Amino acid sequence: MTDKIRKFLEERRPDTPCLVVDLDVVARNYTDLARVLPQADIFYAVKANPAKEVLTTLLPLGAYFDTASIYEIETCLDIGASPDRIAYGNTIKKARDIARAFNHGIRLFAFDSRAELAKLKKNAPGASVFCRIFMDGAGADWPLSRKFGCEPDLAIELLTQAAEDGLHPAGVSFHVGSQQRNLAQWDVAIERAAMVFSELGARGIELELLNMGGGFPAKYRQDIEPVENYGEVIRASIVKHFGNKPPRIIAEPGRSIAGDAGILQTEVVLVAEKSREPDRRWVFLDVGKFGGLPETFEEAIQYRITTPHDGGPVGPVVLAGPTCDEVDVMYDAAGYTLPLALTDGDKIEIQSTGAYTATYASVGFNGFPPLSEYYI
Ligand SMILES: *Cc1c(COP(=O)(O)O)cnc(C)c1O
Repeated sequence: MTDKIRKFLEERRPDTPCLVVDLDVVARNYTDLARVLPQADIFYAVKANPAKEVLTTLLPLGAYFDTASIYEIETCLDIGASPDRIAYGNTIKKARDIARAFNHGIRLFAFDSRAELAKLKKNAPGASVFCRIFMDGAGADWPLSRKFGCEPDLAIELLTQAAEDGLHPAGVSFHVGSQQRNLAQWDVAIERAAMVFSELGARGIELELLNMGGGFPAKYRQDIEPVENYGEVIRASIVKHFGNKPPRIIAEPGRSIAGDAGILQTEVVLVAEKSREPDRRWVFLDVGKFGGLPETFEEAIQYRITTPHDGGPVGPVVLAGPTCDEVDVMYDAAGYTLPLALTDGDKIEIQSTGAYTATYASVGFNGFPPLSEYYI
């Protein structure tokens, strides 16, 4: 937690649960990544945290924007991003949303199937398109695998088709999986992408764009390597597979920009001892899976937690949310411990929650309002 956030919480004492994001950290995370990836244009993945305060912090730093829907596109246009700074990066789009984006001047679109390419041909004539290739998400805590991407062989065919359709076959994209902690996955992906480049080159089609997606980590419970190491691995891999003729490189970080910039303050509602499980307390918070923490699904993302009693003796806990739904349990198997002194009314902080939280909150399950957000 930054001093700025600590001071805000002390002075404002906002009702919990609430998300507080330090925009200075958003800016620093962006410039740090831009520094270690000097060869890349940074397209912030808007879905990670689409708050206008975040977008307007990034815009003057030179950011581009990767968007998932016409609504995100219009949000970026609203804050003053020009259409040539926005990519429509979702491979799943309604035809009329493609047309609307095209009308707004968007000229860079993702696809990974023949049917989507046909929609682009019809609704975004002449636009630049890139094909997403499949990665299995190995090494990632939040994989984005089965639903997206096609095999490189199909990518070669579809990019050739794109040229025949009057579209501009710009290049290849991939996503190694979100919160990717195995740096070697970028080399696997870049090698695969380079293969598509050279196959198409042999057919007389010169691709020019390599979109590396996101996957850069935030600091959760597990150790992560410094961002410099990511930059170094990627730089070496591009040299290895593209030599001295690299294409335009795009990166689409979401989590690594917004994640560590935010904390979620929550109140302990109940600390219960259950006779079935005498050695473990159940700690119920006023936020849970439905209130902004769905990335605890299968305990995939394991946030760091701080309490007012840190330093005192601890014991094992199950951590659960406040709703009347059995699935609203965040951590059971993950082996969390919390201070024995913890009691109802205590305020605790869930760290690095700036990404994939507030917009993931339900609108009113059990009557609980969506997460309050403060951008400072
Ligand atoms: C979600 C997403 C990202 C952002 O991923 P992070 O792991 O948060 O950096 C980037 N690109 C695409 C296409 C995505 O779907």
